[in-house]
Amino acid sequence: MTPQPSPQAGAAVKAADRAHVFHSWSAQELIDPLAVAGAKGSYFWDYEGKRYLDFSSGLVYTNIGYQHPKVVAAIQEQAARMTTFAPAFAVEARSEAARLIAERTPGDLDKIFFTNGGADAVEHALRMARLHTGRPKVLSAYRSYHGGTQQAVNVTGDPRRWASDSGTAGVVHFWAPFLYRSRFYAETEEQECARALEHLETTIAFEGPGTIAAIVLETIPGTAGIMMPPAGYLAGVREICDKYGIVFVLDEVMAGFGRTGTWFAAGLYDVVPDLMTFAKGVNSGYVPLGGVAISGEIAATFAERPYPGGLTYSGHPLACAAAVATINVMAEEGVVEHAARLGAEVVEPALRELAERHPSVGEVRGTGMFWALELVKDRETREPLVPYNATGQAAAPMSAFAASAKAHGLWPFVNMNRTHVVPPCNITEAELKEGLAALDTALSVADEYT
Ligand code: PMP
Repeated sequence: MTPQPSPQAGAAVKAADRAHVFHSWSAQELIDPLAVAGAKGSYFWDYEGKRYLDFSSGLVYTNIGYQHPKVVAAIQEQAARMTTFAPAFAVEARSEAARLIAERTPGDLDKIFFTNGGADAVEHALRMARLHTGRPKVLSAYRSYHGGTQQAVNVTGDPRRWASDSGTAGVVHFWAPFLYRSRFYAETEEQECARALEHLETTIAFEGPGTIAAIVLETIPGTAGIMMPPAGYLAGVREICDKYGIVFVLDEVMAGFGRTGTWFAAGLYDVVPDLMTFAKGVNSGYVPLGGVAISGEIAATFAERPYPGGLTYSGHPLACAAAVATINVMAEEGVVEHAARLGAEVVEPALRELAERHPSVGEVRGTGMFWALELVKDRETREPLVPYNATGQAAAPMSAFAASAKAHGLWPFVNMNRTHVVPPCNITEAELKEGLAALDTALSVADEYT
């Protein structure tokens, strides 16, 4: 039952939260979490009855929105039949989820190792790569996010790494392409691509090709800014990996399962990695689940020799039943095609039109239901609307933007000087238009800081 919105009930929830919940990535006394009473489809609401259109899909994971009845029913059925069972056994929900995922992954990524989320998927992918190659190092991009556990945060590039970085030997960061803020003085996508590949190969030469187990990249970096890789970049990385015997890991935790208007973003670039991580959209986050899709060659490494790693809840039946139902809903309801079509026909033209009218919008980029607006003080210099990693007063322009969006019933995704338009992939056209109108209003607030 959805709790009835009541300010008193909300106050009790909030008081217990403030007393006992230790929140992620937060200064505990400086936060003011909204007490949420319920959620359905693309909306959630608080205990005052105020409703928000969720343009952030939670943390970019509710790809089929909240409380999809078929997925809720599948979880209930699985709970009644077999709530849990240890990973060493063959269990219907688990094997069916693996089959449905393997059917959709590119190439021969046909074996699925299940985890509880994205970070542990990255941990295991890197462990598999090191064991497969017998090499110690991993290369990853500065503009990236791969998760909050130790190894995943070490390979992450964004500032969330800083405080937890153990300086683990064997993690080397490099620059992936991003023409708008090119590190390579490039003026065209072709130049950016060629120079980024040359930089990667030089990094490998100086690190020692025989020491590098893996290159890990988000197919389209998500949290770091939805930077669409130029044509040819990922294929170029694939070639470099083949040349030096390096395992190519694509992290599709955010970009996978319909987000980009394809099942996996790798499909947009016609590239097949050796390992691919997933989580979030696999079951819209209804029950925690992630995993690694493994190529035949890497799976063979562990054919006769044990894979040294596992998790008590690996392939949890409730999570897998939710994945089976989610994937079936996405297929039956054409959610992936819907995201591709509305992305191209509604979101992209609307965001480009907003960019024309709002001086704070420096760049629009994305695909499907995966879009970023890069907000700037000055379009000529491209100075970000707030400085890199700004907090508190320094981040005021973005806070003012977010406050305006929320006041107009839109829950935005905000990170540094960007807002991402990442609603559920099955959002309706009318809902999108409602959200885009609120975004228009909030951008006028951002414009005041240009
Ligand atoms: N990889 C990517 C690309 C992500 O976006 C995230 C989460 N935002 C993670 C890994 C970590 O996933 P989780 O939070 O489920 O551990």
